[in-house]
Amino acid sequence: YLISFEGGEGSGKSTILKQLAEYLIQQGYSVVCTREPGGIEIAEQIRNVILDKKNVNMDAKTEALLYAAARRQHLVEKIIPELEKGTIVLCDRYIDSSLTYQGYARGLGIEEVYTINQFAIGDFFPDLTLYLDVSPTIGLSRIQKDGEREVNRLDLESLEFHSKVREGYLKLLKQFPERIKAINAENEIEVVLEEVINIVLPFLKD
Ligand code: C5P
Repeated sequence: YLISFEGGEGSGKSTILKQLAEYLIQQGYSVVCTREPGGIEIAEQIRNVILDKKNVNMDAKTEALLYAAARRQHLVEKIIPELEKGTIVLCDRYIDSSLTYQGYARGLGIEEVYTINQFAIGDFFPDLTLYLDVSPTIGLSRIQKDGEREVNRLDLESLEFHSKVREGYLKLLKQFPERIKAINAENEIEVVLEEVINIVLPFLKD
């Protein structure tokens, strides 16, 4: 199974993903964790170009195509081989990030960005997507407190931009209610993890 994690800045995706992986491994599942953009060398290089603070004048379509390119390479080089071995792949961000960040918040259009991504990934949509919902004010204040986190180009975006990202996710939830499950990520991390486990376990046993 391919399970993606989605959410705005400071939603706690990466932490929850790691803790879920540990839990599933304890339960005897074979699990691999990865992230987007990145996960493998070529895609990490593309990530650096996209997130570089110097690249403030990057065109929105260029950005969308680079994300799709990174996603393609990550998929063929890492995700597909793992899925073929029967491993559960937990991916920090996937197509829905493009749909909301580039499609909705940057205004390229969810449909348009969907189309270029379909070219990139074909049928490899996530089997399940966990959306960690947090208000942008809380999310941004969390990342400001995280001293270890490196500031990237997107952090320089306005609160308005991050509010649009959330709006976009809420639209996607309505569009793909079967695949995407929302979790209130304003709760304590233990509570969020428990909710996540309560969604994932029945899904895996199905
Ligand atoms: O989740 P993570 O912090 O690793 O994401 C890196 C950055 O890339 C974030 O600031 C996120 O907002 C941005 N991003 C984006 N469009 C995507 C994926 C990520 O703007 N499609």
